[in-house]
Amino acid sequence: MVTCDECNAECCRYITLDYATPKDDEDWDEIRWMLLHKGVMVYLDNDGDWQVEIRTPCKHIDEKTFKCKNYDKRPKVCKDHGLHECELNEGDFAEVIFKKPEDVDEYLQKN
Ligand code: SF4
Repeated sequence: MVTCDECNAECCRYITLDYATPKDDEDWDEIRWMLLHKGVMVYLDNDGDWQVEIRTPCKHIDEKTFKCKNYDKRPKVCKDHGLHECELNEGDFAEVIFKKPEDVDEYLQKN
């Protein structure tokens, strides 16, 4: 298992937002639009929840040590993110992953 000492603060380099289950053409078009933006990924996680991931590093990452410069005052979401949820340890975290608009079209053709 990868530990925080072996990582470059991967979990501090993006945010994720819940996204309502897409149900019509307007929703799929909105997902295509989001995917036109650099650093955006949309996925259906293994719990069946749709998520939008936006790559953007936290302002508190110390880029020399990869430690948190705000550790004592870090938000609860950071405190709750344990090694068991680490994306480097988790393996496959999603059933469906869209990285570009064409991925949506391919998914809809198959489903
Ligand atoms: S506050 Fe600290 S632990 Fe939380 S995302 Fe930023 S660098 Fe990571």
